[in-house]
Amino acid sequence: MDKFNFCLAPGSVPTEARRSCQINAIFKYSPGWQFSLSTVQYKGSVELQQGVSGMHSGLYYFQGSTEQSSTSKNFQGPLALQSYAEESSFANKVWSDCTGTTNLNIKTNVAVTGANGLSGHMSNDIITFASTQSYGVTWRECPKPFHEAVKNQFTPGTKSDLVMGPSWATYWINVVFEVPSDYKNEQVVLLFDPGCEALVYSKCGTPLQGITGGLGGDRHIEVLISNSVKGGEVIEFFLEVALNGMFGNPGGEAGIITAPLPNRTFKIETFQIAVPNVEAHHLLWDFEIIRGIAKDIASTSQIAADAIYTANKIVNTVKHDEPSTLIAGLEIAEKFFESRKEFGYADHIITATGHCHIDTAWLWPYDETKRKCARSWATQCGLMDRFPEYKFSCSQAQQFEWVEQIYPKLFDKIKKKVESGNFIPIGGTWVEMDCNVPSGESFCRQFLYGQNYFQKTFGKRSTVFWLPDTFGYSAQLPQIIKKSDLKYFFTQKLSWNNINKFPNTTFNWVGLDGTSVLTHFCPADTYCAQVTPKEVAFSVSNNKDKEYSDRSLLLFGNGDGGGGPLSSMIERLRRLQSIAGMPAKVKFGEPEEFYKELDSRSNNLVSWKGELYFELHRGTYTTHAKVKKFNRSSEYLLRKVEMLSSISVVTSKYAYPKKELDRLWKLVLLNQFHDVLPGSSIEMVYIDAWNFYEDGTLKNTNSILFCLVEKSGNKLVEHAIQSLSEKPGLTVFNSTSWNLPSSVIEVEPKLIEGNVIQTTSNGKGLVLLSELEELSFSSGTSLYNDLGKFKTLRVNEQNLKVDGQFVLVNNVSIKEYIVENQFITLTVDQHGRLTSLYDKQIGREAIPHGSHANVFKLYEDIPLYWDAWDVEIYHLEKGWDASLGSVRIKENGPLRVVLEVEAKITTTSTLVQSIIVNVSSPVVEFETIVNWKENRRMLKVEFPVDVSCDYATYETQFGYVQRPTHCNTSWDMAKFEVCGHKFVDLSEHGFGVALFNDCKYGHAVHENVIRMSLLRSPKAPDANCDIGLHNFNYAIYPHRGTFHESDVVQRAYQFNVPPVVIPSKVKNSGAIFKTESNQVVLDTIKISEDNSGLVLRFYESSGGKTKVKITSSLNLKEAFECNILEDLISKVEIVETNHFFLSFSAFEIKSLKILTH
Ligand SMILES: [Zn+2]
Repeated sequence: MDKFNFCLAPGSVPTEARRSCQINAIFKYSPGWQFSLSTVQYKGSVELQQGVSGMHSGLYYFQGSTEQSSTSKNFQGPLALQSYAEESSFANKVWSDCTGTTNLNIKTNVAVTGANGLSGHMSNDIITFASTQSYGVTWRECPKPFHEAVKNQFTPGTKSDLVMGPSWATYWINVVFEVPSDYKNEQVVLLFDPGCEALVYSKCGTPLQGITGGLGGDRHIEVLISNSVKGGEVIEFFLEVALNGMFGNPGGEAGIITAPLPNRTFKIETFQIAVPNVEAHHLLWDFEIIRGIAKDIASTSQIAADAIYTANKIVNTVKHDEPSTLIAGLEIAEKFFESRKEFGYADHIITATGHCHIDTAWLWPYDETKRKCARSWATQCGLMDRFPEYKFSCSQAQQFEWVEQIYPKLFDKIKKKVESGNFIPIGGTWVEMDCNVPSGESFCRQFLYGQNYFQKTFGKRSTVFWLPDTFGYSAQLPQIIKKSDLKYFFTQKLSWNNINKFPNTTFNWVGLDGTSVLTHFCPADTYCAQVTPKEVAFSVSNNKDKEYSDRSLLLFGNGDGGGGPLSSMIERLRRLQSIAGMPAKVKFGEPEEFYKELDSRSNNLVSWKGELYFELHRGTYTTHAKVKKFNRSSEYLLRKVEMLSSISVVTSKYAYPKKELDRLWKLVLLNQFHDVLPGSSIEMVYIDAWNFYEDGTLKNTNSILFCLVEKSGNKLVEHAIQSLSEKPGLTVFNSTSWNLPSSVIEVEPKLIEGNVIQTTSNGKGLVLLSELEELSFSSGTSLYNDLGKFKTLRVNEQNLKVDGQFVLVNNVSIKEYIVENQFITLTVDQHGRLTSLYDKQIGREAIPHGSHANVFKLYEDIPLYWDAWDVEIYHLEKGWDASLGSVRIKENGPLRVVLEVEAKITTTSTLVQSIIVNVSSPVVEFETIVNWKENRRMLKVEFPVDVSCDYATYETQFGYVQRPTHCNTSWDMAKFEVCGHKFVDLSEHGFGVALFNDCKYGHAVHENVIRMSLLRSPKAPDANCDIGLHNFNYAIYPHRGTFHESDVVQRAYQFNVPPVVIPSKVKNSGAIFKTESNQVVLDTIKISEDNSGLVLRFYESSGGKTKVKITSSLNLKEAFECNILEDLISKVEIVETNHFFLSFSAFEIKSLKILTH
């Protein structure tokens, strides 16, 4: 086909500038400058110059004049912006079209108050902080709707003169042709290979089929026009060509995970109509099966011998230049299949279901995924028309919602195929999420939004939790699965383990609380099977539970980047259905029906207790630190919004912001996808992800990228508070379900005139709060505590203890700083390392004599292949201490002491840390800023502690898990890096030490050393991953007793959920809810999905049975226990004085629906 019309779709071309990653602004600092401003805005033209050439340097300098905003009048001096991109793949590429003048708007909030109070980082006369880039041009828009795209001006062209580029752009092609009259009664196909992906539309805009060009195994370029044409008819199609392959646009030697090339071009390789040789195709599919049996089924078997004989005979019969011999070949094949049609007793039955794994973002951005869904699913609907017995299982509610919104015609088709039982929605979650990092409540919301979508759209919830590709599975999932109305669990990912082979295929997975879920790992060890005799044989030989079960599931179809099954796979499956003598009988089917059979056919299945730890991709607890930080802060922000809004609803007739909360939750859930939150996507995905959080302004330097979720969330908090407020003043809300001990908080001085005891280095007022009652608002004079309660001893210059007060630091010698309060004595050396942490109340030293704690260590971090994913065991052999820094006293009591450590930890990276001790607490806090510019190195902080125990305790979703501190077995050793949430604890009889964090997940405890992984610097698939500024906080807490006897759970929670400071007086009506025991955590308060009452979610946090009394200041009418989907289960009796009792077993999650008067 020579002629067609094409256009480059406007709006779909990626803007070059957006492909830069984080830009750090570097302000040259001159002594004497006044940093009294809070906002700096730069506008106007900035000359963009290409930096040093060469692939190893990605330094680009922007220089130009500045227009200062009204608040920045004291600020002047040259501005230089620097983009760090070591070994960046976009060097020389991205900016090549951008020389000259580019309009650049940068809004930057320096958050500087006071002469020395830089929140940013100051060293060597340079202040560095992150800035956001705002070019005023959006990244690729959503896929253009058909009716808009076809309005474009189309230009006539031919195959040879159309060169399509750059990467990620979209071309539309209109093709009209007449079917030759001599094709009458023939099957006719269009062959279209653009070298990349494409979607074929009918002339009236119905998506018909996806195209995958190129020469990969997923090649799919054939579009069926008709099985029998009339000849002479005129056919018209529109083709939307997307300039990326199934795996995006990788461009380097490292294979598909190399950072994408921005300037790829594509040419149409094939564009023609053809009459396929139907007999040849049929013989090919027959021969593939017969040859596969000959090759891959045991050579000693009768069937293999028959197959070799048959295959040989076909080869000897068919001559490529004599088409008539094809019929003879087909007859030989037919004889083989006929003779084996009588399937007797089948040893094993394989249910084969079509599947198409589409990563919601990975080596392509979210917007490309929307198109991938349309391409892949249109193809599958077409296959269902041709093969009525074919069933296709499809997960992720978010992808369905995208297709529903953007491709309504295709969605109508899908709904019909769902009704006919061919298209099977499955999974039950919003996306196939990461199962290490999200919180317990996030898990609940994944199911709540996922199941509600399936119910609303298709009239049915899913019974199978479907997660073929996620990197490890939390021990709390079985309980959450069952409480979200699902019954079964499916994956295969543990077949990738790099140390131990997982011993089971079909088993009961028993969670932390004892809930058991029937689980199947498809024994073909893939979710992209191609339907071959080899896979059938392997599904049987690799099935490790044949004694207990005679069933397996096979997922076939191309995947990861979409695609799905091809017709050739279905043709092979048709043939494999009935070949007696094969190790298994294969049938078309779908997962729910498979699990029902499995359930009824299995006996005495073995159990696996606890987490399904994935022995690979251990780096994903740490990679892309910011997405993890945003995830944590968004989870707790939405908790705050829901809690305050719910209280406002029941006490002040406030309108619950359900619609906006749904929107924000869906954004958070989307970014928990199993390649986004783990940090294993390309840079473009994170630019998109930041956009979901970011609106281009910075709130302060502690939040490098201010997030949309945060901004909108904070607005919702303000609205709820306005509704609760009565008059001016100060209120503090304790959102935890226990009384908070006396604490020190920072507030704006104007809110607490007369009560400020200490002013911080950044001009905030510090106050000492009295104990705060759980889940209640406190205000007035009772809010403040008497400092006199915190008398302590102090060490004088002669090292003698004398009476003193509060918290203070003594610089007893040039080599060390001793900080002391009523609870602890902390010794910090001149470089910021802890040499002693003495618990005065217990009389125990936490740090072994002669050791240093809070030591920053660097490790070479070069994995075997999966750069962003893996940290390998051998990295532990090549670690070294970071270069040491120096300490100064930043604040010195009476409410808190702050020591500031400043260090150039490598030749390129710097660190500034505040070590904070408050008067009222034994917890030592560390607020840390790192400017990180490394290449394949990992940063950790290490705390050797004087504690001995064979296991350490790590927080997980709604509970904790314990893991070994030794390497006795290969299973212990494989856990050399593990996931923990807000705390890790190492305790022995009588004493323990816990390490808290506010955004970190990668941990390890080996013998007596607690390590926390802080930052990595992989170069694929994002060449700029983690380069730039990072803020994170952690804390160390020495405590009495074992972990179980301690309040580590509560302290770590408080570290993440500090009291909410409200700048007005709120009616104090006592505790909204009061739980009698701290063992039970009230984690969530929200308005029910049906808007009829409150939903409360509790969990038992200590690992033991308990019964708690819960009282409320609200006027309770009725209470019901419900599941996560808010289905009512049983009534809870309300005792007349507005209290009720709840019983919990170990780690039980309990949801209640409460109706108030
Ligand atoms: Zn995946």
